[in-house]
Amino acid sequence: MSTRSIVILGNGITGITAARNIRKRSDDDRITVVSGETDHHFSRTALMYIFMGDMTYADTKPYEDGFWPKNRIELKRGWVDAIDTTATRLTFSNGDSLPYDELIIATGSQPNRLGWPGQDLQGVQGLYSLQDLESMEKLCPTTKRAVIAGGGLIGVEVAEMLLTRGIAVTFLVREKSFWGSVLPEGESKLVGREILRHGIDLSLQSEIQEILPDAAGRARAVKTKAGDEIPCEMVFLTAGVSPNIAVARAAGVECDRGVLVDEFFRTATPHVWAGGDCAQHRTVPAGRRPVEQVWYTGKLHGEHIAANICGESLPYQPGIWFNSAKFFDIEYQTYGTVLPKPRDGEQSFYWEHPDGDKSIRVNFRGDTGELVGVNVFGIRHRHLVWEHWIAAGTTVTEAMSDLGAANFDPEFFRQYEPEIVAAFNAAHPQSAATLRTRKGLFTRVFQRLFKSASPRGAVAVSAMTP
Ligand SMILES: Cc1cc2nc3c(=O)[nH]c(=O)nc-3n(C[C@H](O)[C@H](O)[C@H](O)COP(=O)(O)OP(=O)(O)OC[C@H]3O[C@@H](n4cnc5c(N)ncnc54)[C@H](O)[C@@H]3O)c2cc1C
Repeated sequence: MSTRSIVILGNGITGITAARNIRKRSDDDRITVVSGETDHHFSRTALMYIFMGDMTYADTKPYEDGFWPKNRIELKRGWVDAIDTTATRLTFSNGDSLPYDELIIATGSQPNRLGWPGQDLQGVQGLYSLQDLESMEKLCPTTKRAVIAGGGLIGVEVAEMLLTRGIAVTFLVREKSFWGSVLPEGESKLVGREILRHGIDLSLQSEIQEILPDAAGRARAVKTKAGDEIPCEMVFLTAGVSPNIAVARAAGVECDRGVLVDEFFRTATPHVWAGGDCAQHRTVPAGRRPVEQVWYTGKLHGEHIAANICGESLPYQPGIWFNSAKFFDIEYQTYGTVLPKPRDGEQSFYWEHPDGDKSIRVNFRGDTGELVGVNVFGIRHRHLVWEHWIAAGTTVTEAMSDLGAANFDPEFFRQYEPEIVAAFNAAHPQSAATLRTRKGLFTRVFQRLFKSASPRGAVAVSAMTP
């Protein structure tokens, strides 16, 4: 293959994974990674820890600065204004231009701004970029109360961050329970209680009408649709994110919600590829969504783009959906599909500890008993085990009998399997399980797991591994 100039627009996990994996395959290609945000790749998921003082910005860079010249990956800082797909060239806001033979669009997401009056005032922002964090740092010392609008994972992170600076928080959530568009009622209420436990003023079924300015043009209050006025100095817009596709769309690259790609991450425009948060699959892989805005998906996309751009034919088969997050002190994991309400033909078993801070929900097919998905809150479970169980069509009875194998907490931690299985048997006597002892279980399940061929070869992928 002759020397090509491969330009990657975006230095997030998608772009950087593509760059590293192209270099592993090709010594000759010239690789340039472009970003307007930072000189070097950093872990976006760690933004909150920089603010809270647990990490420095330097700690969030998974690679030493010398890694890039050593691997002949050129880094170019600048905002791209336009892509000319006929002349195969990028134009920067400062007038620079950069030609490409192959272009990878990996421009990520942007926080939703829903057109509220006052949303462009000083003190109104989202939390996405390093610049957002810098703006928070600047404004927090003069902030007594902040309003967070939009319940979701980033909203909870912002709340936790602000509390560490002694800033009072009002959380406005449009739904009647927290993250109710994603979580079933039990889990949604559990998270709601955790938010209240931290002294946050959680206001459900509440929406912004407008944001009111002070004389200097900074937010001074939020007016809700119910007519309440909440004095505040900062407003965080956390009602989800959307694919950042303005530059791609303006260039005529075919887009819907995201940049449309086939199973090899090719767009409809010759020599243009796309992946990560900004991409949308034309054909949605089984059990997945057309646009997935999570870290490990970006990493998988980057790996696939690298293989395909280097001439391998690697179709995207991501396997079982999973995600993990943290709501203050409660960790959350989900595997497979758990919708707010089970689909027709599905059954749902839900157990919650009397303390109200631990729960498990297992959804399964009513006819065959095969697992469909699981949500776990406050107990750590093993990714590999649930992924295997769901992919292999394991029945709920088998999974309940082996539940100890899924538990990731050390053995000297309090175990909840006997209570969970007893509750399951009471609710589903026709599928009753006999809990096997934990000893040896893990080994047995793993032996089975590695012998079987799950869609992705049962390879573990950590949500947070760079
Ligand atoms: C606060 C926060 C916490 C999160 N926590 C988690 C988590 O716990 N787990 C999880 O799975 N996911 C989490 N996510 C989501 C995860 O970070 C994203 O899915 C992931 O970073 C997307 O990677 P990407 O490479 O597609 O895009 P990005 O990381 O967004 O990178 C795109 C880059 O392209 C640059 N860019 C865009 N347009 C241009 C242009 N025109 N010119 C120049 N540069 C441009 C952007 O500035 C950016 O640097 C979190 C996100 C946020 C914001």
